Amino acid sequence: MSKVYDILIIGGGPAGYTAALYGARSGFATAVLEKLSPGGQMATTSDVENYPGFPGVVDGFELGERMQEGAEKAGAETFFAEVSKVDLLADPKVVETSEGTFLGRTVILATGAHPRKLGIPQEEALVNRGVAYCATCDGNFYKDKVVVVNGGGNTAVGDALYLAKLASKVYLVHRRDTLRATPIYLQRLKDAGVEIIWNSVVSGLQADKKLTGVELTDVKTGEKRVLPADGLFVAIGQLPESSLAAGQVATDKAGYIMAGEDTKTSVPGVFAVGDVRTKAVRQIITAAADGAVAIHYAEEYLNEK
Ligand SMILES: Cc1cc2nc3c(=O)[nH]c(=O)nc-3n(C[C@H](O)[C@H](O)[C@H](O)COP(=O)(O)OP(=O)(O)OC[C@H]3O[C@@H](n4cnc5c(N)ncnc54)[C@H](O)[C@@H]3O)c2cc1C
Repeated sequence: MSKVYDILIIGGGPAGYTAALYGARSGFATAVLEKLSPGGQMATTSDVENYPGFPGVVDGFELGERMQEGAEKAGAETFFAEVSKVDLLADPKVVETSEGTFLGRTVILATGAHPRKLGIPQEEALVNRGVAYCATCDGNFYKDKVVVVNGGGNTAVGDALYLAKLASKVYLVHRRDTLRATPIYLQRLKDAGVEIIWNSVVSGLQADKKLTGVELTDVKTGEKRVLPADGLFVAIGQLPESSLAAGQVATDKAGYIMAGEDTKTSVPGVFAVGDVRTKAVRQIITAAADGAVAIHYAEEYLNEK
C-alpha cells in the first residue's frame, strides 16, 4: 500500500478510536488497524457502569461500536488486520499486517493489555457470571455479597480494600505467607475486616450458572476446601500487548511502554496510549483521554516536520 497516513493507529480499543476521532477531526489522514473487533477489552463486558454520560450501564461492545462509528464519521478509516511487525525508526514508519503493509508519518500504539488468567477450568465461561478481573469496574455488582480476591500484590490488596466497602465479606487468597504489597497494607486489611487466607491457590471453581464457590488448595499440605462465594476477583497481574514494539521503544520491567501523560515514547513520532503505557489507572476513560492527548503531540510533531 503506497498511501502514507499522517496517523496510523494500532489497536481499536477506546484509546485507539479516541485518537482516530481527534486525528480525523484535525484533518489528518488517519487509520486504525484492529485485529479483532472495535472496543478492545471493554467489548468483553456487557456492563460498563462508570463511563460518563451513560447513567446505569452501557454494553461495552456497543460502546466500542459507537466509538468506531464516531471516528469513521469524522473521516478515519478502519482496517481489520493483525499487525505482525513494525519499523518505527523508518521514515515513514512501516507497519506490516495480515492485510498488507501500511505507512505512517506517526504511529500510535494502542494495543492495550489483558489481565493474567488463572488458567483453571470454567474460568472463561464464568467471566461476568462471578469471575472478574477489575474491582473498580465490577465491584458494584457484588454489593452485600461474598467475594474472594486472589493475589498478593498492591493491586490485589487495593481491590480487597475497595471491595470491603461494598461486599458483605472479602477473603484475600495468597499463595505465600507474606504479602508482596507494601507492609502497611496488612493493618489496613485487618481494619477493613478482610480475611487473609495464606499459602493457598485457587484451584477450581464451582458454579450453577453463576459462581457459587471457589476451591482452594493449600500449597503446603495439598489439602483442598471450597469457600462459598459469589465473586472471584483475579488480581495476579496484567500483561501489556507490547511485544510488537519491544526493542524499538523503551519499556519498563513489566513490559509497559514507557510514556508519560504526554504519551510520547522514546521514539519521535511514536506515541503510546491506553493500557499499554506506563500509568496508574487503566480504565476506559483514561484510555480515551490518552487518545486525545496523543493527537495534540502528533500534530505538534507533524507541524515541526
Ligand atoms: C472484563 C473487563 C471489564 C472491564 N470493565 C471496565 C469498566 O466497566 N470500566 C472501565 O473504565 N474499564 C473497564 N475495563 C478496563 C478497560 O476495558 C480498559 O482499561 C480499556 O479497554 C483499555 O483500552 P485500550 O484502548 O488501551 O486497550 P484495549 O481495550 O486492550 O484495546 C486494544 C486493542 O488493540 C488490539 N490489538 C492488540 N494487538 C494488536 C495487533 N497486533 N494488531 C491489531 N490490533 C491489535 C486488540 O485487539 C484490542 O482491540 C474492563 C476490562 C475488562 C477486561
